[in-house]
Amino acid sequence: MVRLPDNIVFFGPPGVGKGVQASRLSERRGMVHFSMGDALRAEVAEGTELGVLIEEALARGEFASDETVLAVLEKHLDRGAPVTGLILDGFPRTIAQAEKLEQMLTDRGGELSRVLLLDASSDTLVARLTGRLLCAQCGETFHQLFKVPEREGRCDACGSELSRREDDSESVQLERLNTYRYLTEPLAGFYRQRGLLDVIDGSGSIEEVSERIDRSLGGA
Ligand SMILES: [Zn+2]
Repeated sequence: MVRLPDNIVFFGPPGVGKGVQASRLSERRGMVHFSMGDALRAEVAEGTELGVLIEEALARGEFASDETVLAVLEKHLDRGAPVTGLILDGFPRTIAQAEKLEQMLTDRGGELSRVLLLDASSDTLVARLTGRLLCAQCGETFHQLFKVPEREGRCDACGSELSRREDDSESVQLERLNTYRYLTEPLAGFYRQRGLLDVIDGSGSIEEVSERIDRSLGGA
C-alpha cells in the first residue's frame, strides 16, 4: 500500500491551472480539496461576520487579513474538515499564514507533508489568461484555446454574447504575475528550507500536468 500524503499545499501563479489540478488530484486520491478562494466567497455570500471583514478588505483593494483567512480555515477544521488527506489550494499566501497552518494542523494531530508549486513561464501564463471569455449573462466562462464555445462568441449555456474579461490585457496580466511572484517567493523559500517544496512544470495539457503531479507524489 502506498501511503497517501497527509496534507498537501498547492500554490502557483494565476493561470497555471492550480484549482483544476487540485480538484482532479482530490478525485484521483480521495482527498478533500479546500479552496480558500471558494471558502472566502462563501463567507461573503452567507453574510457571516468573517464575510463582512472580507468584503471590507476587498473594498479597500486589499486581501483579507491573515487573521481572517486563518479564522476561515479554522472554522472548516472545527466543523470536521479532515486533518489528513487535505489539499489546501490558495492558502497559505504568507509565511505568517504558513506558520499558523503548521500549528493548526499539529494541534489537531495532522501534519503538512508536501507543498507543490505549480509554475510556468510568464509567456505561457499570459497566453492562457488573455484567452478567457466570460458570459456576463450567466457567469459561464470559456477560453479561446482550452474551452472553445460551440458557436463562436456565444455562450453554450444561455446563448448570450461572450466578452473578454476586462482585466485581460497582456500588460495587466504580466503585472499581476510579477506581483504574485514577488509576494510568494518568500513562501517558496520557507517551504524549500523545510524540504517540503516540489516545483511542478504547469505547462502543457491538463493530463500532462496531472501525470507530473502523480510522479512527484509517488504511488498510483
Ligand atoms: Zn451564458
